[in-house]
Amino acid sequence: MITVAEAKDLIKKNSSVLECIQVDLYAATGMVLAEDIYSSIDSPPFNQSAMDGYAYRFSEGNNQLMVVGEIAAGDSSHTYSKNNSAVRIFTGAQVPEYFDTVVMQEKVERIGNSITIKDVDQKKGMNIRLKGSQITKGSLALISGTFINPGVSGYLASLGVNLVKVIRRPRVTIISTGNELVAPGAKLESGKIFESNTYSLYSALSNMNIQILNIHKVIDNELETRNAIEKSLIECDVLILSGGVSVGDYDFVARSLEACKVNCLFHKVKQKPGKPLYFGKRENVLVFGLPGNPAALLTCFYEYVKPALQILMSQTVAEKIKLKLKEPYSKKPGLTHFLKGEMIGNEVKILGSQESYLMNSFVSANCLVQLDEERTDFSQGELLDVLPLT
Ligand code: AMP
Ligand code: MG
Repeated sequence: MITVAEAKDLIKKNSSVLECIQVDLYAATGMVLAEDIYSSIDSPPFNQSAMDGYAYRFSEGNNQLMVVGEIAAGDSSHTYSKNNSAVRIFTGAQVPEYFDTVVMQEKVERIGNSITIKDVDQKKGMNIRLKGSQITKGSLALISGTFINPGVSGYLASLGVNLVKVIRRPRVTIISTGNELVAPGAKLESGKIFESNTYSLYSALSNMNIQILNIHKVIDNELETRNAIEKSLIECDVLILSGGVSVGDYDFVARSLEACKVNCLFHKVKQKPGKPLYFGKRENVLVFGLPGNPAALLTCFYEYVKPALQILMSQTVAEKIKLKLKEPYSKKPGLTHFLKGEMIGNEVKILGSQESYLMNSFVSANCLVQLDEERTDFSQGELLDVLPLT
């Protein structure tokens, strides 16, 4: 049995960034840019009015000005050169070259076709967004490796980019095993339970912008398990199995993976929950065998599968933070514990209901608290490693 640190290290060493693809900018959200982007335009592309008002030449601002035209957003501006003139202009409209300043309409007295500026605080260049003030044509706008968040999407679009090279998302397939499982919504016969792991995995993957390729549900039978694994291995980048990974008579996952020539990199980790955790690889496909107990499964997802998926997508792997333990806690030595916790300011509270079959504490948990393998007693106020879940 290996330690948590060894297990994490093996996963890291065996995970590598997926290839890049070109996608439409809408589809690129939540992905990582795989190219440097240079701006093909000046942005803004022209001197732009920041207000509804009048464009004029600052040096003529003390005079009465003749309104000689009107320019709305989207209009192409004409050439103006008449002394003591102004044009009515609106937010986003192109400011003609002759003018260097815009005054807000509220600060102007207009009689017929002439205006007088009533603003003593006017300064040259006021209310004009200068051409190229955000970025100039040919400059580096974004570097490869940038995570495409809403701000990045909007920025790229504003520069006219509609197609981007990004690291593709992993194709993830799930195999849920267990004779006892019934789909939620179906009739619960004696001895059966509702299948919930594919739902927590679906949700956790959705939060990472990953759509599941396939969900296969199999009974505890070696041939069925093997067939489902074989089918999945040729379609996905990451295969997640739920349940059947221990050593009981009805646990067929490890032996079926072996029969499918998956190379086992570890099986069993010195941890609670999730001791039977399995990790293997066939060619480039990563295979995670997660224990079926719902809380153990979700804990293993957050601690092991999510970081691997982040590496595949070239995303930053979330770091653990240090928080102060709110109340003392004791455990037996020998296993690393991952406990559902609640972060409150710079403190962390360990929640009740920690057994691996219970999901209710995960409802209010916003972090996992890691307790060192060999230690037993943890005192109030000591700093612990915490993995935020949001
Ligand atoms: P296993 O890892 O297959 O030995 O399962 C351990 C426990 O988790 C058992 O109580 C199973 O009934 C339960 N379990 C396994 N798979 C699921 C699932 N997909 N949804 C809910 N509970 C499950
Ligand atoms: Mg089972």
